[in-house]
Amino acid sequence: MIIDVHTHYCRDMVRLVGSALDNGIDRICVSSLGLSYLTNPTPDQIRECNDQTLASMAQYPDAVVGFCFLNPLHEPDFSLAELHRCVKAGMRGIKLWVATVASDPRLDPIAREAIALDIPLLHHSFVKVTGNMPGESTPADIADLARRHPRLNLIMAHFTGNGQRGILEIQPYPNVFADSSGGYPCTGITEFTVRTLGPERILFGSDAPGRNYAVQFARVLGAVPEGPARNAILGDTAQRLLRL
Ligand SMILES: [Zn+2]
Repeated sequence: MIIDVHTHYCRDMVRLVGSALDNGIDRICVSSLGLSYLTNPTPDQIRECNDQTLASMAQYPDAVVGFCFLNPLHEPDFSLAELHRCVKAGMRGIKLWVATVASDPRLDPIAREAIALDIPLLHHSFVKVTGNMPGESTPADIADLARRHPRLNLIMAHFTGNGQRGILEIQPYPNVFADSSGGYPCTGITEFTVRTLGPERILFGSDAPGRNYAVQFARVLGAVPEGPARNAILGDTAQRLLRL
């Protein structure tokens, strides 16, 4: 089973799901950040985003795995109630983006609940030469969250966007996985990540529709020969984490 752990709800879900299947991807993990990519959504907007994901799960029950979008700046009572609503309806993960950094202790109630529910938390992370957005995590923030919650299955998004230094920063924390998305493929970065983390800590992710499935898929296929390591990256580990 080939699983893409990182895609986003969009206007054209027919195309998002159809091109995944055309590329040989069996399941896509979908979260909605809203059609305008809300950096600091209100509680109403969070519910609306998650309703979009739930609708796409209902539309494509064999292909779409829903991730619940939350904003750690909201009251924990609201976030945990929303998380329970989404998990009850079949979602299998949490997505956090740029409302605040992963080192912020306001993430702790969400992280504890992810452990209790045994679902992974996919967290955005990037290192931008132009400087990160306010609230945008770096791999050091991800490492801090992993250190605070060693039993949390934490997925750092975008290993290509975090670079070699970012991969080294999460390397000491075995509960952090890295998804392969982020920018165009770049010579040597996938090989470096495989050597540093081991293939069982890498998950294939595309960040579609912001990125192209085929290009993102090639980042893995071009760097990792057929065999158990490639299988781990393309689906085996995600299948286990998501209990699919
Ligand atoms: Zn994302």
